[in-house]
Amino acid sequence: MEYKADIGVFGGSGFYSFLDNVEELEIDTPYGKPSDKFTLATYEGKRIAFLPRHGRDHQYPPHMIPYRANLYAMKLLGVKKILAPTSSGSLQPHIKPGDFVICDQFVDRTWGRKDTFYDGPETRHTSAAHPYCPELRALAVEAGKNLGLTIHEKGTVVVIQGPRFSTVAESRWFSKMGWEVINMTQYPEAYLARELGICYANIALITDYDAGLEGRDDIPPVTNDEVLRVFNENIENVKRLLFEVIKRVDPTQDKCSCNKV
Ligand SMILES: [Zn+2]
Repeated sequence: MEYKADIGVFGGSGFYSFLDNVEELEIDTPYGKPSDKFTLATYEGKRIAFLPRHGRDHQYPPHMIPYRANLYAMKLLGVKKILAPTSSGSLQPHIKPGDFVICDQFVDRTWGRKDTFYDGPETRHTSAAHPYCPELRALAVEAGKNLGLTIHEKGTVVVIQGPRFSTVAESRWFSKMGWEVINMTQYPEAYLARELGICYANIALITDYDAGLEGRDDIPPVTNDEVLRVFNENIENVKRLLFEVIKRVDPTQDKCSCNKV
């Protein structure tokens, strides 16, 4: 395929369009069809490919997203760097709804998802020690600070299978482990980018406190309505932050450690 984009953006729940005056493109891959058509547009001279990971009608719940097709299609488009906003829960009191976390680690609690491009005969064991791009993360932190957003420079996201939310016991366990963020889509999305040698950064918008907080009866367990309400209140901040990061990304810079897989 002709090289069409430099930077990829995955939209999360409540985030189905990004740029105006766009070209739409349907892509097929050896791993099936991606969640939706891609939209392509140019911003500050950089070519952006946008895909809502749940589909534009939110027809793919987290455990049914065609992650391999989504990532492979980004690769086919020529994308070298991916920015991945997600709506996420907080597991720690100091990380509040409306804050952003630029995660540096994940813990995988999902099951049954197709999570590798190497099903054989070729076998490859890819390092996941540092699953997120250090350079893109640094740009995201700098961009968030520049906009005056509350941005946490690192964090561990525990990825649950969904579609259900956590029990109180599970949430207490995750909090006590010291993990900061919880969501349902970072695995295998972040890891598949590693297998393809694409730089990837998660921009987690905090929408809730998961199943509540220990000793805080005034903070109720998360509901889907609440997630969407907080997300909609903050969607403009998500977009501002993405634009601010994209301004800083140099698509010609390909010497990142992420390329060495
Ligand atoms: Zn990188």
